[in-house]
Amino acid sequence: MAKGTAFGWIDAHIHVDKYEPDERERLLAEAYAAGGEAVVGVSMNLDSCRENRRLAQRHAGRYMPAYGHHPEIPLPQPDEERELFAWIRRRHADGEPFAIGEVGLPYYARTEAEAAGRPFDEDPYVELLDRFAALAAELNRPIVLHAVYEDAAKACDLLEKHGVRRAHFHWFKGPEETIRRMIARGWHVSVTPDVVYEPEIQTLVRAYPLDLLMAETDGPWPHEGPFAGRPTTPAMVQEVIRAVAELKGLGADETAAAMLAVTKRFYGIM
Ligand SMILES: [Zn+2]
Repeated sequence: MAKGTAFGWIDAHIHVDKYEPDERERLLAEAYAAGGEAVVGVSMNLDSCRENRRLAQRHAGRYMPAYGHHPEIPLPQPDEERELFAWIRRRHADGEPFAIGEVGLPYYARTEAEAAGRPFDEDPYVELLDRFAALAAELNRPIVLHAVYEDAAKACDLLEKHGVRRAHFHWFKGPEETIRRMIARGWHVSVTPDVVYEPEIQTLVRAYPLDLLMAETDGPWPHEGPFAGRPTTPAMVQEVIRAVAELKGLGADETAAAMLAVTKRFYGIM
């Protein structure tokens, strides 16, 4: 941990490869210098997986890659999906550290289409998530999910079907009933800088056990409130931790230590 930093932290969900190529190394160097012990770099598709693997090799031990196909972009063609799954299996066969993600269900694409009166067939997305959940269970890898509101229960069904034990719902928001179900399963959630200003997320943090809670930025996604107009960087996780501490009525140091331990344990970061 860097000198002068109050506590160590991990950004548990960031799209490093969505930053400009010449920004990525500086972004990571600044994160590590600011007390970041690691980041979890999630993928959009196979090209993104390759870049995340390259970054993970360059920053071994401090960059946990997650490999998958993001649910809010068009589905992969059958050939691309076959290649992606085979590629992930090779990484597993070689004993490389990685998680499965970002995978899930297209809540925003679906509800936008529905609001515009356009038809949207969710079934192939559910089927793809079914295959990713099966893969995570088979390889015994953590899975990173984008599944919010009513879609979260559909994702829970698939995780239960395959007996997935290590699940991380990133930037989670959803109904109380689903939150209770996820807690009962021991599944994790992470919150972004919007915990500072979103009452919905503050309610989630109050309800969710600290030992299942992680911090993330989903960078480069821009945040609002006090973060408006600022480029998103991993160091913003420190603001997330301070907000969680306040909501839990705990000190920032003990909250940071707990969240760091949870994230390391979940992702197998030493
Ligand atoms: Zn994401």
